[in-house]
Amino acid sequence: MDTFFDLVTESARSAGPNAKTTPDQSSGLIKLNANESVYGPSPRALTAMRAALENSNLYPDNDSPTLREKLAKKHGVLPQQIVVGNGTTALLGVIARTLLQSGRNAITSACSFISYPAVTQTACARLIEVPLLDRGFDLDAILKAIDANTRIVFLANPNNPTGSLLDAASIDLFLAKVPQHVIVVLDEAYFDYAQYFAQKRGVEYSHALEYVRENRNVLVLRTFSKAHGLAGVRVGYASGPAELISYVAQLQEVFALSTIAQAAALAAIDDEDHIKHALDNNADQSEWLEQKLNGMGYDVLPTWTNFIAIEVGEDSRDFARRLRKQGVLVRPLGAWGAPTSIRVTLGRPEQNQFFVQALASAR
Ligand SMILES: *Cc1c(COP(=O)(O)O)cnc(C)c1O
Repeated sequence: MDTFFDLVTESARSAGPNAKTTPDQSSGLIKLNANESVYGPSPRALTAMRAALENSNLYPDNDSPTLREKLAKKHGVLPQQIVVGNGTTALLGVIARTLLQSGRNAITSACSFISYPAVTQTACARLIEVPLLDRGFDLDAILKAIDANTRIVFLANPNNPTGSLLDAASIDLFLAKVPQHVIVVLDEAYFDYAQYFAQKRGVEYSHALEYVRENRNVLVLRTFSKAHGLAGVRVGYASGPAELISYVAQLQEVFALSTIAQAAALAAIDDEDHIKHALDNNADQSEWLEQKLNGMGYDVLPTWTNFIAIEVGEDSRDFARRLRKQGVLVRPLGAWGAPTSIRVTLGRPEQNQFFVQALASAR
């Protein structure tokens, strides 16, 4: 057969044959391109995963009841209001397939999380991206873009890659105006970082789980990939109305979470020391790096996360290539519609010092 084009589905065609991302060849480089934790996995999770290996001949509990109960208790919601998945990106895919189809649409901002276009396309729906406002989400423009066929609004808060934050009051106002046929996905992948910075700055960041307790039309997404340092293990969860969660859970593949991943997440929830270590160091490093960058003439705002977007004033792919030659991997943001910006993860002190030197010689 020459081509499978005639055989595959509409969604596979529109994604194209080259949709897979190529792996980062990062050996020996300082990897600041994927917002992974530079403080390693939770040590408690490591111990729990090693123990779980002993029973890896057994299938996992299908819908991760112990983990869902633990998360429910932590957040003051019911276990039926939680679904866990193989990372939040996998859950985004299932949520899209639960609510979207041909003829329907989802809305988000330009320059937001890279998975929103992909999961919407895979569900054969249309993604409306409203322009950025002050490097962040324009909630009024999103409200205006909602029509009878809209089912999802994706809000990354804080946003990746711009790093902007919406505070709790603006989400409250927004939700009050969203019509009942629309589910708002509150993607809080950077929750722990944002909460930490918000406390320091006297801002109320988020009370998203309260919306779940009130049975509002929201799905709150959290992940173990960032502050908990478990990006390679793949655990995320969504919390929302029990009925909607049950539809999502039905569409998920069976055994969505391995025994190893369940054990890791259960242990990582309790590893407050590890999370605090990551958050404290991240905050120290953000101050250091922001000061350096501002001193070099870059216009950067205080971060709410573990990364910073930097406007470099030239084609950022070339810029990233030069940084790579110096030994540092960063993310050029052309694919997000920001061709002159890069996104850099906050590293450990020595990594950030190295990055600043590389930046000085690459520009
Ligand atoms: C990193 C990130 C995620 C997390 O994805 P996982 O699949 O859980 O690793 C989700 N949303 C945003 C906006 C992110 O930046």
